[in-house]
Amino acid sequence: MGVKTENEGRITMICPNLTCRRTLSAPVSARGQVMKCPYCDAPFRVPTGNASPGPDTKSGKQ
Ligand SMILES: [Zn+2]
Repeated sequence: MGVKTENEGRITMICPNLTCRRTLSAPVSARGQVMKCPYCDAPFRVPTGNASPGPDTKSGKQ
């Protein structure tokens, strides 16, 4: 009924497993959740954000 289909895009990331390193894609609704890589079954956390690997959360005071 009230399901919003936010098709803004998907979050793409690389599997943290160095022996896998496959490109994974997760829906934006899965931000901050822990998912499992379908290839190597390694757990990974979906980053909150689209594509900005900047250390913004690390006290970047100027
Ligand atoms: Zn993997």
